[in-house]
Amino acid sequence: MSLDAIKDLLGPGGFIDDPKDMAPYLSEPRGRWTGSTRLVALPDNVGDIAGVVKMCQHSNIPIVPQGGNTGLVGGNTPTGNEIVVSLSRLNRIRDIDSAGFTMTVDAGCILADIQEKANDANRLFPLSLAAEGSCQIGGNLSTNAGGVHVLRYGSARDLVLGLEVVLPNGEIWDGLRKLRKDNTGYDLKHLFMGAEGTLGIITGAVLKLFPKPRQKAVAFVGLHDIDSVLDLFTLAQENHGEVLNAFELIPRIAVDFVTTHLPDGSDPLAEQHTWYALIELATADDSGVLISVLENLLAKAVDLGLVSDGVIAQSEAQAASIWRLREEISEIQKREGGSIKHDISVPVQVIPAFIKQACHAVEQAIPGVRPVPFGHIGDGNIHFNLIQPVGADTQQFLEQRESVNDIIHDIVASYEGSFSAEHGIGRSKVDEMRRYKSPLELDMMATIKRSLDPNNIMNPGRILAGDDR
Ligand SMILES: Cc1cc2nc3c(=O)[nH]c(=O)nc-3n(C[C@H](O)[C@H](O)[C@H](O)COP(=O)(O)OP(=O)(O)OC[C@H]3O[C@@H](n4cnc5c(N)ncnc54)[C@H](O)[C@@H]3O)c2cc1C
Repeated sequence: MSLDAIKDLLGPGGFIDDPKDMAPYLSEPRGRWTGSTRLVALPDNVGDIAGVVKMCQHSNIPIVPQGGNTGLVGGNTPTGNEIVVSLSRLNRIRDIDSAGFTMTVDAGCILADIQEKANDANRLFPLSLAAEGSCQIGGNLSTNAGGVHVLRYGSARDLVLGLEVVLPNGEIWDGLRKLRKDNTGYDLKHLFMGAEGTLGIITGAVLKLFPKPRQKAVAFVGLHDIDSVLDLFTLAQENHGEVLNAFELIPRIAVDFVTTHLPDGSDPLAEQHTWYALIELATADDSGVLISVLENLLAKAVDLGLVSDGVIAQSEAQAASIWRLREEISEIQKREGGSIKHDISVPVQVIPAFIKQACHAVEQAIPGVRPVPFGHIGDGNIHFNLIQPVGADTQQFLEQRESVNDIIHDIVASYEGSFSAEHGIGRSKVDEMRRYKSPLELDMMATIKRSLDPNNIMNPGRILAGDDR
């Protein structure tokens, strides 16, 4: 069977085979991976996805499922003989159950659209990341995406009650249950979340909704030193854990980048500090004033010598401008030259020790390198990015990627951390899987992969190297 049978099934508008129209499906946001393919399939219903998968299984054609194509580890980019199955046209909100606090969606729904629909129904869907205007919920679940509210609501897999999946043999598994309690054997949905499309194509999901916050309070504070961030986080958790919505670490160098490169970028504080924290509280309770809760927290922190200075946003616009500073950090680094990025996690209590040790190690390895460690303190998740030394040759700097990765990931391993906290494995971290995962863990994963996808047609070479499966 040739690709023509797939084109016949999908009909006009259901596929792209003209190379000049395929470009958006062949590269990814960081420009590290560029691919090629013979066909981008654009099915608009679950039955057609199952049909395409069956044909591919029959003809041994490998498939790359693709959502919003914002993934950062190369799992979404096809390599020649693989076809892309894009979920973009499978994008209906199937049901909102206000009383049950659930929403049932097609996998191709854009995350921001889901947030908006929840908001319209006076509910909250809390998954939030900078790519939310483009990424799809199917991609979010397949990568078990994190973002800024994991601290309070968990990562993507924690926000799901049920799933619908097209399996590698083309069968449709209907696991779209709305149950909050269901102890009937293995919880199969969790196999597919974080599987990055290697075990099947997620086509639908029942998502958990939450009460919509009626009040938010946002602060940006200058820390006494890096050790203070842990004490401040503990203080916030102990006193206000039930309303603590986000707690982010920001280094001075990131504020410098934002104020230098963004025309309207400004430092929220008058004096400079080496480290900052962004704190957000939120509650559905509209009695009392959340800002005064945050003021009390910061007053205690000042008394304890943890915080040197701070500002609490007095308007939504001011809060948005503080958040923008945090959200621009990833993009703005590009203006400073080449960067080598690490998405790591360590137990929360060793974050300051990890940052100090890792900064020292990379500065020894590459004199003049500029570390930019920032991220989700409450999840132990630090984006440990390295920017090339000022004036250095970008290519020469980037050639050190693998040796620097080993330095950082070895330190992470020594703290019993993870070399991929939220972006996944894709193709870019397959070697790290071999280096840091135990043979037993790799063997269990390979056994699952072989039993569901014996011909290895679903996203081959992602997560597990070909000869590990
Ligand atoms: C500016 C920016 C900020 C980001 N911030 C964060 C962040 O804070 N936290 C975070 O976790 N990630 C972040 N990311 C990474 C990325 O947005 C997430 O990984 C996102 O979940 C990917 O969704 P997507 O729809 O774009 O998936 P894609 O990129 O299309 O695919 C990602 C992987 O999932 C598979 N896949 C996609 N859809 C399906 C499906 N329906 N069924 C089965 N497999 C599928 C693909 O094959 C691929 O392996 C960021 C990316 C950018 C560009």
